[in-house]
Amino acid sequence: MAQWKICSTCKRPLDYEQKYWVCSVSTCNRKRTGLYFCSVPCWDAHVPEARHRDAWAEERKAPTAAEWQKLREAEEREGDAPAELDEVPRRRIVSSGEGDDLPKEVLVVVSKVKAYVRARSGMNTSDSVTGVLSEHLRKLCNEAIRNAARDGRKTVLDRDFEPLV
Ligand SMILES: [Zn+2]
Ligand SMILES: [Zn+2]
Repeated sequence: MAQWKICSTCKRPLDYEQKYWVCSVSTCNRKRTGLYFCSVPCWDAHVPEARHRDAWAEERKAPTAAEWQKLREAEEREGDAPAELDEVPRRRIVSSGEGDDLPKEVLVVVSKVKAYVRARSGMNTSDSVTGVLSEHLRKLCNEAIRNAARDGRKTVLDRDFEPLV
């Protein structure tokens, strides 16, 4: 076997000994139906579909080809006995799908927003709207990142946003 598994989201090959991510939710880690992800965005992309309320990605390292071979042989010998890998360092890297730990910066050009509102309506705009608009942009970006990940891309494109606006 040239590759170990494939990413459950973008279907790219996962090689032996490479870093990968699993979901913290136990139903995503069942022996036969387990999900494997090549990147955090690929993990994140399954979260809305799986409807997790609290989940994070855990970094793992794929076995060597020899280790994997041994594990499979052991499984065959023991029939259906669970023979999980000793999955060493478990590291939480993402607290939730929405990136709540990231800084909440203003993502819009305030003067341009105010000028637009004034030109269209003659109204003033309160400074406090920039926080809400930025939050809206972050949510759009999160969805676009998921679309790019499902497509197997490492670049977010305009077409990832188009279905969202
Ligand atoms: Zn992937
Ligand atoms: Zn999951």
